[in-house]
Amino acid sequence: MVVPKSLQSQVLQSLHANHPGVVRMKAIARSHFWWRGLDKDIEAMGKACHSCQANQSNPPAAPLHPWVWPDLPWRRIHVDFAGPFLGHMFMVTVDAHSKWPEVEMMSTTTLTSSYSTVSPSLQWPGRKVCSNTEAFLESQ
Ligand SMILES: [Zn+2]
Repeated sequence: MVVPKSLQSQVLQSLHANHPGVVRMKAIARSHFWWRGLDKDIEAMGKACHSCQANQSNPPAAPLHPWVWPDLPWRRIHVDFAGPFLGHMFMVTVDAHSKWPEVEMMSTTTLTSSYSTVSPSLQWPGRKVCSNTEAFLESQ
């Protein structure tokens, strides 16, 4: 249905009653009525309204950036702690190239002590990635 110019403002006000946001208002409008410049009128109304801006959809999620597969073993290792299991914590080290895992039973969960007491893989000069930020920070 084409809305005459004299009624467009009234129709826009009805469309805007619950502050659905620009995208939702356009969708509703397209299924019921039209006039030349309708999308621009809806956009102008949405931009002028704080409630509609709050209802607009969230920005698109940032794309994932997977780790690049290292061309040689032990160029990058991933380290994390697992447990407690049967009263022990375990430090799990995985080589990013080969997926080779090493598991060490730990008496503590900070990398400070781990570096000096466990696997030679942690003393390797390659890149170390630890998802346990707290333990990682204590090793700084
Ligand atoms: Zn609004």
